[in-house]
Amino acid sequence: LRRIALARRPKGAPVAEDFSFETGALPEPGDGEALVEVTHFSLDPYMRGRMDDAKSYAEPVAIGATMTAQGVGRVLASRAEGLTEGTLVTGMTGWASHAVLPATDLTPVPDGVEPTAVLGVLGMPGLTGWYGLHEIGQPQRGETLVVAAATGPVGSMVGQLAKAAGLRTVAVAGGAEKCAMARDVYGFDAAIDHRAHDDAKSLRGALAEAAPDGVDIYFENVGGKVLEAVLPLMNTHGRMPVCGMVAWYGGAEDTGDRLPAAWRSVLVKRLKVQGFIIMDHWDRMPDFLSDVGPRVAKGEIAWREDVAEGIERAPEAFIAMLKGGNTGKQVVRV
Ligand code: NDP
Repeated sequence: LRRIALARRPKGAPVAEDFSFETGALPEPGDGEALVEVTHFSLDPYMRGRMDDAKSYAEPVAIGATMTAQGVGRVLASRAEGLTEGTLVTGMTGWASHAVLPATDLTPVPDGVEPTAVLGVLGMPGLTGWYGLHEIGQPQRGETLVVAAATGPVGSMVGQLAKAAGLRTVAVAGGAEKCAMARDVYGFDAAIDHRAHDDAKSLRGALAEAAPDGVDIYFENVGGKVLEAVLPLMNTHGRMPVCGMVAWYGGAEDTGDRLPAAWRSVLVKRLKVQGFIIMDHWDRMPDFLSDVGPRVAKGEIAWREDVAEGIERAPEAFIAMLKGGNTGKQVVRV
């Protein structure tokens, strides 16, 4: 067994020393359980929160415990009825080469679906984009949408669904390459490189040009400078699905005292701002899959992955992802 454990709680942005690489004997499945040989696991921004002690909507990872993650792999041994060896499954395996889980916590990967798609485009991040856009964003044809982290699994889903629904879509992404990908692969009408703008004011100028009719939906993934830039551009009765704020996860970005002024826009524009945690809406997964699954199969929805090779590289890939080092859904091939 090879696994990555939490060695200590990070201060600010995580560093390599916050993780430890551990080996041990393979665990044995008990009654009703199965041993899974993990081929890939997912790296997601939410995992930064699990490294802290602070009370959140999810339990923190204990010091010495395996980092949490959804993984995919084959059943190596099963003591559960109806789950046979060799079945391709997904479940919360953690950052590990093998995991023992109750069969009830494992879901077979449907035939014809790329195994890693269940970690991204057809999994938790895809559902997040679909739910947040439709339920909270309430997109209307002819409106303008802005989303940052636009080439990630959430942002790329949001952009493509909004485009298909007849909106003008504006991407914010880090670097020229990701901006080109936002336009060419995900069909955004415009893409703005946040790294090319030192402050919110300069970024706002570029956004105002890309969104000449103002912004009706700001799908909030990042907070920080992007949030500050977008708020004054919101149209009256705009909507903001508040999905994440990855720019602030490391506590690195200092917003000074300008944010309160910017948030005043929420009041005077009568914006509907609604946070959501996708776990509360897991019952919508079948609706999501019946809507988006066929569109992925037909190639109408694009998806890209960034694969880190080898479990030992998971910490560095995770640290890099939080700063934009990934292009596409970050997964680890064990
Ligand atoms: P991504 O794969 O897009 O990875 C994170 C990206 O954030 C980076 O690649 C980088 O993209 C961007 N980023 C990092 N720092 C900054 C910064 N300072 N300013 C602007 N952008 C930055 O992640 P996901 O698609 O998996 O997740 C996107 C967001 O959705 C996250 O905030 C996540 O926490 C949230 N989320 C929320 C859920 C919920 O239930 N509410 C469920 C799932 C995800 P770039 O280089 O382009 O800037």
